[in-house]
Amino acid sequence: MRPEARTRFAPSPTGLLHVGSVRTALFNYLFAKKNGGKFILRIEDTDRIRSKREFENGIMEDLRWLGLRWDEGPDAGGEKGPYRQSERIGIYTDTAGRLLENGLAYRCYCTQERLDALKREQLKAGSPPRYDGKCRTLSEKDVPAGVTPSIRFRVPEKRITFDDGVHGTLSFDSRLFGDFVIIGSDCIAAYNFAVVADDALMGITDIIRGDDHVSNTPRQILLFEAMGLRPPAFTHIPLVLDRDGAPLGKRHASASIKGLREEGFLPGAILNAIARLGWNPGEGRLGLDEMTGLFSVKRLSKSPSAFDMERLKAFNKEELARTDGAALLELAGLPVERGLLDAASAVKRNAITMKDFKTLITPFAGDVEISGDIRSMLMEPYARKVLDALRDSVFKAGLLDEMNYNEIIESVKQATGEKGKRLYLPVRGALTGQTEGIELAAILKLLGRDRVLKRISAFLA
Ligand code: GLU
Repeated sequence: MRPEARTRFAPSPTGLLHVGSVRTALFNYLFAKKNGGKFILRIEDTDRIRSKREFENGIMEDLRWLGLRWDEGPDAGGEKGPYRQSERIGIYTDTAGRLLENGLAYRCYCTQERLDALKREQLKAGSPPRYDGKCRTLSEKDVPAGVTPSIRFRVPEKRITFDDGVHGTLSFDSRLFGDFVIIGSDCIAAYNFAVVADDALMGITDIIRGDDHVSNTPRQILLFEAMGLRPPAFTHIPLVLDRDGAPLGKRHASASIKGLREEGFLPGAILNAIARLGWNPGEGRLGLDEMTGLFSVKRLSKSPSAFDMERLKAFNKEELARTDGAALLELAGLPVERGLLDAASAVKRNAITMKDFKTLITPFAGDVEISGDIRSMLMEPYARKVLDALRDSVFKAGLLDEMNYNEIIESVKQATGEKGKRLYLPVRGALTGQTEGIELAAILKLLGRDRVLKRISAFLA
């Protein structure tokens, strides 16, 4: 019987969480849930200089905001912890110790100078740089005094073949990479070693990660075998590119989740746009549960995908339209009250982002501020005439609704002889402080007679 599926997301906390990483997290999450398993968060903070607790916190906050909850992790705990590599140093030393005992690893006393010189020679000779095995057979008496050794894995000569979920059968010759360091002379576990020790002890069954890790996989498989374990199933997914075809990375500020949130994109929209990076679950918007139902590694694409801002905007527009007014007001930090609820329902369909939503709802949430160009336009004689006539007409009207809006506008038209922009812009400008937004009829109705009169009078005064 297949063991319970266990997947992990293993970010290095060296920057903001970005779109490419979220795709990795999402697919691992979906795989685990689809198979009734567990999704684990592991923080790979072995790089003591670049890793920062604030980045770790930011990553967790972003994942939670997106709704990608982990079953085990640094904060959630779990049986296979700790879930931060910096807290697992003893585990790496013990694991390496066992490999040493079994002769599957050895201590290497070569100096950095020797290794650098070796590499230079090999490159000059046109061969791939790799360790020459000098310390492989070093006897006790030849061990230099006062040198802290590194620990190298004794790489067996063989072909390593595995079945990648996306790429099919991949095969590597271990002679190409030579004996590699698993614990440095600074006692820090090398990336490949820490990952395998963790994946092994955490019982990870399936790994979905970026193509940039393909070349690590054969080394990792050898380490699993050395530990007497069956390696997990690997799936490598093509990188996410930006619109110019460059890999999407940390330098793209707008591709960070924090950046997208600040731009006013909603979690559901972001997840839907990200889900389409190399996966095609069909057109419409999907919730996480629906994605889970549809997810299959077999349906992932072999070719790189580009992050499409236009698609994200379309999903966000849809997301805003289907979110109820109260939730939007809360997100916008506005009070959830009757008048604003109506306004929220009216403006949400015109907004692409929460930023737009906030702008569009402002005229209904407090006093308007009229600034710059709009103020100058309203100062022009024709505009003042329009506002004068509007005040008269609204004053005479009882309640404002869409029915008498037409009459009001018609009478302003008659009184001033203005039409088109010269009629509508002054009205919109004085009532909202903006030049675009929802229909004028709806604006009048939502503001109501008193506020409309107050705003026009305030301006004319
Ligand atoms: N920590 C690695 C990274 O940030 C991921 C390791 C893995 O998925 O094996 O790319």
